[in-house]
Amino acid sequence: MDLGISGKTALVCGASKGLGFGCAQALAREGVHVLLVARGAEALAAAVESLKGDAKVPAGTQVEGLAADITTEAGRAAVFAKRKDFDIVVTNAGGPPPGDFRDWDRDAWVKALDANMLTPIALMKATVDGMAARGFGRIVNITSGAVKAPIDILGLSNGARTGLTGFAAGLARSKLAASNVTINNLLPGPFETDRLRATMEGAAKKSGKSVDEVMDARRKTVPAQRYGTIEEFGATCAFLCSTHASYIVGQNVLIDGGVYPGTM
Ligand code: NAP
Repeated sequence: MDLGISGKTALVCGASKGLGFGCAQALAREGVHVLLVARGAEALAAAVESLKGDAKVPAGTQVEGLAADITTEAGRAAVFAKRKDFDIVVTNAGGPPPGDFRDWDRDAWVKALDANMLTPIALMKATVDGMAARGFGRIVNITSGAVKAPIDILGLSNGARTGLTGFAAGLARSKLAASNVTINNLLPGPFETDRLRATMEGAAKKSGKSVDEVMDARRKTVPAQRYGTIEEFGATCAFLCSTHASYIVGQNVLIDGGVYPGTM
């Protein structure tokens, strides 16, 4: 299927690896010019090079990287100094640490809200009106399956991402929808990325088991009996960004191999 977005421009945040990279890769393979943002310059340069050398990325597709912390005003200013007229924006940053809410002070909460709620809102604020004026826009916020099924130790994530989800639900249904600007959230379940492995390493240390044992036990709880791949996450993101998805507005799309146990 031709997604109809060849030649569009995309900002993909948190894109040097993991789910963000999966989105950047899928968009670039559709001929979308992509700007990848992450803090670590080395991994980012490797990600950009791998897309430039990707035989599935059409010739003429521009792939660029910008090393910046997207959760800071300075980081976002550096991005928008390059350009502001993105057709597609994928918001993403690292998730907050797990823990017990009794240990979190105001600073811990402000940091989580900054990264996982206020940053996506700032990115939307900077881009959606231009998208509406041009008659095409796609925002995809990478959130978490924990928005639908909260995980007790991820209270910072549950709180911040649910705040973003509520805000995006309202904004998506504003006049933007009539201008072909869609705002949707992608909710990953367990995907095999560095972040997942780091979380499992923490769990392994606590339980005295090996990381592989913990990874295996978790995998067996997934109805699909496997972890998701960044390619399938990216493909869903690219579809939401496509011209075919104009009527998908304000949705929370769960990709979790069946982990969420509810009917809807
Ligand atoms: P990952 O493999 O650790 O990749 C995170 C990417 O984001 C890296 O490129 C990282 O590069 C970049 N990044 C982190 N903080 C950033 C910042 N402040 N500014 C710019 N770039 C930043 O993580 P992932 O598994 O893809 O997860 C992505 C998001 O999905 C996270 O919020 C995570 O909590 C959520 N999620 C993941 C899963 C899963 O199973 N993987 C499940 C549910 C939710 P630098 O560190 O160099 O900046």
